[in-house]
Amino acid sequence: MSMFQDIPVDVGIVYEGERIRKNEMYVELGGPKVKTKFELVRVKKPGEVEDGKISIVGPDLKDLEEGKTYPFGILVEVAGKELEEDLEGVIERRIHEFTNYIEGFMHLNQRYDIWCRVSKNSFKKGLNTFELVGKVMIRLYKSELPIIEKIQVTFLTDPKKVEEQYNMALKVYEARDAKARGLKDEEVDEFYGCLLCQSFAPTHVCIITPQRYSNCGAISWYDGRAAAKIDPKGPIFAIPKGECLDPWKGEYTGANKAAKEKSLGAIERVWLYTAFGYPHTSCGCFEGIAFYIPEVDGMGLIHRDFKGNAVNGLRFGTMADATAGGRQVDGFHGISIEYTRSPKFLQVDGGWHRVVWMPTDFKERVKDFIPKDVVDKIATEKDVQNIDELKEFLEKVNHPVVERWKEMGLEEEAIAEEEEEEIEAVPAAGVPVQGMPLPLPIGNFKISIKGAKINIEKLLLKKVEKKRKRR
Ligand code: SF4
Repeated sequence: MSMFQDIPVDVGIVYEGERIRKNEMYVELGGPKVKTKFELVRVKKPGEVEDGKISIVGPDLKDLEEGKTYPFGILVEVAGKELEEDLEGVIERRIHEFTNYIEGFMHLNQRYDIWCRVSKNSFKKGLNTFELVGKVMIRLYKSELPIIEKIQVTFLTDPKKVEEQYNMALKVYEARDAKARGLKDEEVDEFYGCLLCQSFAPTHVCIITPQRYSNCGAISWYDGRAAAKIDPKGPIFAIPKGECLDPWKGEYTGANKAAKEKSLGAIERVWLYTAFGYPHTSCGCFEGIAFYIPEVDGMGLIHRDFKGNAVNGLRFGTMADATAGGRQVDGFHGISIEYTRSPKFLQVDGGWHRVVWMPTDFKERVKDFIPKDVVDKIATEKDVQNIDELKEFLEKVNHPVVERWKEMGLEEEAIAEEEEEEIEAVPAAGVPVQGMPLPLPIGNFKISIKGAKINIEKLLLKKVEKKRKRR
């Protein structure tokens, strides 16, 4: 008999990648429209946990108004002889997986940034109380992680209570992250891999090292180590480092092998400390994006919570679409906020000395980790609104990228103007391009199309010459 007989909707891995669109949703819990939302796991003493207890603080699902968005918190408390605090982050990340198994319940992101929806269909079928979500979570936790001996789950929708617990959760996350700082990639023999996001991004493999935090910002190297120890066949596993092929780029034979095997050959190499060449893959739940701004040859940073347009005119969601899916996209790089605190943060690309723009909130959160000589030279949305203003700002503050412009000859009025001369037109009607990577150079980006069928009616070959404008 299925352990979910008494649940009115299906429960299974098949629902893991399910997206609930706005017009299909009954209610939205957390997400970008509300400030306070969180999920947190705490390891407690056995006497502090009532096994199987589910509490709801605030209105239950059936008492929420259809079509509305609410602050939301999920607090999971666990106890067990072998449980230690180091496992909290990993147990917490499984909330994403287990709640997504429920037909008509969508869970995105992590920690302070969760975004859930319940579908109208599932609500109609009877998924109208958090009790049911809690029951599924408890059963899955106990069957998948037997070291959890006791577990209780609390759902919060009362805005005041959510806010109180949210502030407490932020302190717990910070303490976890701080613990992982200081250890160097060179000092360990193993990295850790995580495949939890493959349901959304099939070729994504997180390579978690002490100095390159996971993309979601929820799993540190210590968390990875604890998870691999208790469940070595689970989604988080040890990666023997192997030989270091390039210490500057962060290329290791062990990481390459794991990426290739676990992406079924789609990813062959990984350079851990750069956004170009063979960057770490980007899943979909990254906390932020590092994006190249060709007009100033600098990097911008944006985090998920930033609602406005970035300096390049694009919103987080638009750039996330260009970045996500388990791909390696030159110049669009999914990252965690914690990774920006690492001394190896994009070191190949110039690290913080190449960053030219980021939202104020993001900057405030990591300010203490930005080198003093550049911190005031990084523009925010309060300083500039577009690329022209950014250029002026960078010149005024003498940002380190301005030196690069001189070296590249970009100090002249504008980036090179291209003159294109059409030299040949080849009729190519009906030529299918199939099964091979097709690199398309577009501006400063290279887009590779794989596995697509393209019919070309006419192929234009153009000679491109660069001309510089003179002052
Ligand atoms: S972003 Fe990486 S570490 Fe985080 S859940 Fe996804 S695969 Fe795992």
